[in-house]
Amino acid sequence: MSALRIVIATHNAHKTGEFRALLGEGWQVEDLASYPELPVPEEDGDSFAANAAIKARAAGERLGAEVLVVADDSGLEVEALGGRPGIFSARYAGAGASDAGNRALVLREMAGVPEGSRQARFRCVLAVARGGEVVASFEGVVEGRLVEAAEGEGGFGYDPIFVPEGEVATFGALAAEVKHRMSHRARALAGLLRWLEDADLTKSA
Ligand code: IMP
Repeated sequence: MSALRIVIATHNAHKTGEFRALLGEGWQVEDLASYPELPVPEEDGDSFAANAAIKARAAGERLGAEVLVVADDSGLEVEALGGRPGIFSARYAGAGASDAGNRALVLREMAGVPEGSRQARFRCVLAVARGGEVVASFEGVVEGRLVEAAEGEGGFGYDPIFVPEGEVATFGALAAEVKHRMSHRARALAGLLRWLEDADLTKSA
């Protein structure tokens, strides 16, 4: 059987780093930095699943059936904000917004919201494509709450303002291994790993 190549359909090096850490040794993992010629599709779906499928299909069409394309669409849903930023997480404070800008906007909108009403969750949907067709998808969620001021330098995005259920520190302050045990991405990836095993898709040497 030929070696399986996995391409993560993202330009977000933080996401790719998490996938590498979560998948462990033995997988040949690349991301779109290795394929600068691929066009970036417009993420105009109305759900994480729709946007993950758009990204997976767009890359899969160009990379062919011998490559397994995995697209991640993910974000933060805040109860008190009616589920925002949701699918707009990456650009909540505007097109091209920085992670710090997005966090600051969420914290401003949450100013004055009491401790007991600061519930939030991260959601991740993974879409898997081969040759431009989506062949599977997986979802993972981690529940938690928002702090009032960012804490910690680890992770990316909204990690410094999110405390996962069962912990007292933010994902930004917790060790990466702790995040990787319980994160939305880890939970979605567990489904993908089971699917790879069931489909008997082997690691590359
Ligand atoms: P996407 O690349 O369009 O899926 O946007 C994902 C955005 O959601 C990121 O830019 C982050 O702002 C946020 N996000 C997704 N996953 C995480 C995570 O694990 N930690 C913190 N923020 C995340």
